[in-house]
Amino acid sequence: MERYLAHFTVMNEILMIRDFKLQVDPYVSYLALTSMILKNDKWDEKVQEVRSDVLEKVRNPQELTDAYMNEYVGRLRALKQEYISAYIELHKKHRLDLNGDEQKQKLLKGNIKHNLDMLTDISGLIYSKPYEKLLDRLLELKTCFSLIEDDILMSPLCPHCGYTPNENEQPVFGVVEDIEKSMEELLFQWENTIVELLEDDKIKEENIELLDKNQRQALEYISKNHRLPDKIDSFLISTIKVLMKGLDKVEITAEALVRAVFKGGPVTVEDMKQRMSDYIDELVKGMDINRVRIILK
Ligand SMILES: [Zn+2]
Repeated sequence: MERYLAHFTVMNEILMIRDFKLQVDPYVSYLALTSMILKNDKWDEKVQEVRSDVLEKVRNPQELTDAYMNEYVGRLRALKQEYISAYIELHKKHRLDLNGDEQKQKLLKGNIKHNLDMLTDISGLIYSKPYEKLLDRLLELKTCFSLIEDDILMSPLCPHCGYTPNENEQPVFGVVEDIEKSMEELLFQWENTIVELLEDDKIKEENIELLDKNQRQALEYISKNHRLPDKIDSFLISTIKVLMKGLDKVEITAEALVRAVFKGGPVTVEDMKQRMSDYIDELVKGMDINRVRIILK
């Protein structure tokens, strides 16, 4: 009888462990994946803590009471819910919603981008790197507005975009507006550069004869309004390029300029003026300085 009882107890314990395992396994494997996704030490600790607690209990199966099991599954469920909320929050921060996506598409198809694209063609006058950077940033912004809680109940990643948190990734909130503002500023700068060039009497005098009637007409709008037309076309761009033929382009970098002036240490006012002047003289040696345009690369 005693042997039978002992046997029965062991059987019972095995069944309890099996039953317990069936209940907790889906949570445990889900939570193991969340650790890989969030890559967050604090989160790892939480998951580990709950897991180590249960290992202890399995070693003493008599402690696996129904009450304990219910409480334990409750903890797992709460932890999973915590992950779901945190993930949805992060996803929301790093993905454009419908509204944000519309703003992005509008900017991509809009006049500002069209005009900037056109102007980058005047490579002798326009330094396009800052614009390329802005555009890359805009194109990198990912859109996903479909994620709901139900989507990540079985598997912890967004099934629509596979978003994986990454600490180097910047939140998207307000970014489209920021990029739009920077693009407007850039267009304004480029516009000034071109208007200044076109209003330079010397350039005009020397090069205007290179232009035909239509080209001169295209420039008239700019001279009259001191600004570029709302929509820049390729005809205007080719006209500006003709006008620039008489210019000598000298490219410098900010680093080279700083090096030439500071030479790695503090500098007096007089020295700074002198070095700046020497540096410029060196750059334009042998050139007609009225034709020279220095361009910061
Ligand atoms: Zn998504």
